[in-house]
Amino acid sequence: MKNIAVIGAGTMGNGIAHVFAQQGYAVTLIDVDEQRLQQALQTIHKNLDRQLSKGTITADEKQATIANIDTAVNWEKGIPVADLVIEAATEREGTKLDIFEALDAAAPEHCILASNTSSISITKIASVTKRADKVIGMHFMNPVPVMKLVEIINGYGTSKQTTASIVQLSEAINKVPCVVNDYPGFVANRILMPMINEAIYTLFEGVAGVHEIDTVMKLGMAHPMGPLQLADFIGLDVCLSILRILHEGFGNPKYAPCPLLVNMVTAGHLGAKSGNGFYAYTPGSKELVVSPMFA
Ligand code: NAD
Repeated sequence: MKNIAVIGAGTMGNGIAHVFAQQGYAVTLIDVDEQRLQQALQTIHKNLDRQLSKGTITADEKQATIANIDTAVNWEKGIPVADLVIEAATEREGTKLDIFEALDAAAPEHCILASNTSSISITKIASVTKRADKVIGMHFMNPVPVMKLVEIINGYGTSKQTTASIVQLSEAINKVPCVVNDYPGFVANRILMPMINEAIYTLFEGVAGVHEIDTVMKLGMAHPMGPLQLADFIGLDVCLSILRILHEGFGNPKYAPCPLLVNMVTAGHLGAKSGNGFYAYTPGSKELVVSPMFA
């Protein structure tokens, strides 16, 4: 594989473009929004500068990485020559189905179509294409340049050859692949989201406060971040939508989202990105302050 197209230049797309470009792949980063592309390039520059200051890359490697990334607001450049397309667009089922149906028509026959979805069924995404054998999940973790894991999700029809190619490619970009099957939440979110939901229930039922819940999990279980802080970081709307997928997909009440989480999302308290969640966020400050709602 040589040519990689990444669709969606948001939080994940810029990180995915960064790691492939750094390993010498020709990357076309595509978004419907030119401004998001410019922001993505700025973020990649900033992250490469951080690597440069730590001495993990040289100035020449930074330049080479930047030179390997092209951007586009349409599919004329990257898609017709792509060996692999990684879709990292907004987590909306309709958006992804539209993209994959169009990709199936526009990408070369040999091209593997991967999705970075956190929760949408790979089998469903593959069903709108005529190449289910070449459709697979490539679930990178945030921040992509730092996190080692790629959760690789086999759809019902994904071929062994496609899985083997993606495992090999993940290793080539210095990631650690873990192959799992396509059921709601895959593995990462099936285990993580019930833990976050339980932490929210623990707060909701008055068992303990935000600081205490996160401290127990950080110091007691050696988690780098407490579950409530992590939920804020992921986005409370994202957590809610994944829990709903687990709840609906398994039909099991143990996945029912906590009413407090539902209320917070309805009120627009979405975590770090909206400035308020379980903690209050002030731009430029790294201090962790419990939201006045829970103080
Ligand atoms: P984001 O909102 O930061 O970025 C999404 C980008 O997709 C936006 O720039 C948007 O303009 C673009 N987009 C929307 N429709 C498009 C289209 N039709 N064609 C091209 N671009 C389009 O989202 P994100 O957080 O980067 O998430 C992207 C994907 O990665 C989602 O599927 C999400 O579930 C998954 N994911 C996110 C995280 C995370 O922590 N944010 C972690 C793992 C996986």
